[in-house]
Amino acid sequence: MASRTYRAEAIVLKTNDFAEADRILVLFTRHFGKVRVVAKGIRRATSRMAGHAEPLTHATYQLARGRELDVLTGAEARAIYPDMRDDLALIAAGWYVAELVDRFTADRVPSAPLFDLLETALRGLDAGLPAPVVCRWFDMHLLDRSGFRPELAVCAHCRTRLAEETNAWEPAVGGAMCATCAKKVAYVAPLTVRALKSLRYLLVSDLPDAARLQLDHALTGELDRHLRTFLRYVLDRDISSTRLMDELRDMPRAAPVS
Ligand SMILES: [Zn+2]
Repeated sequence: MASRTYRAEAIVLKTNDFAEADRILVLFTRHFGKVRVVAKGIRRATSRMAGHAEPLTHATYQLARGRELDVLTGAEARAIYPDMRDDLALIAAGWYVAELVDRFTADRVPSAPLFDLLETALRGLDAGLPAPVVCRWFDMHLLDRSGFRPELAVCAHCRTRLAEETNAWEPAVGGAMCATCAKKVAYVAPLTVRALKSLRYLLVSDLPDAARLQLDHALTGELDRHLRTFLRYVLDRDISSTRLMDELRDMPRAAPVS
């Protein structure tokens, strides 16, 4: 008979409070994929595990098999990404990558490459790498590892090699589209040469190399738009955490203290 308890290294993707003091945690585990567990009494002040039951916590969890949901019985923190917790923009980016992992995975389908990707992105944010670069790097590698890599070498429609000119971006055909094909479509988003090169670079780079990419305001916006439309097309829904990121970006900056 299988053991009733097991240990799992995991990152908390999201949480849902219910009843008086209980919480459901959606864990993305390194070895068992996405698992929903219940943490009983976690919201009481006396709970020893409360600190491990927040979104974006990385810990080794002790779990007991339950009839419907497994039950959290213990936790040892591996990383709480402390620096990230003081910066709203980084937290919003952390929620964004966690939400995408949640959307791209089914329960109990193990994917160590996706776990590594999520962990790398959170560590990068925690280390203070710029959130837009981490998010776009994450988008490209998530799509690649999930079987949805955007076409960046040839026109996704006619398969001719893309010329070094403004092309187009069309998620419905699978990525970049050549200027000739783009003329036959009522509306397509222009894809600048530097945005195309940045997308290619993000896809072949690890995060430290990607972080060297210099993204000015216009390029940041263009990459954000292209990947957002692509992800929305693949998922057939909006990504809710982008709303918070947009609000933070549009917020007036505090005047410097003189
Ligand atoms: Zn074409």
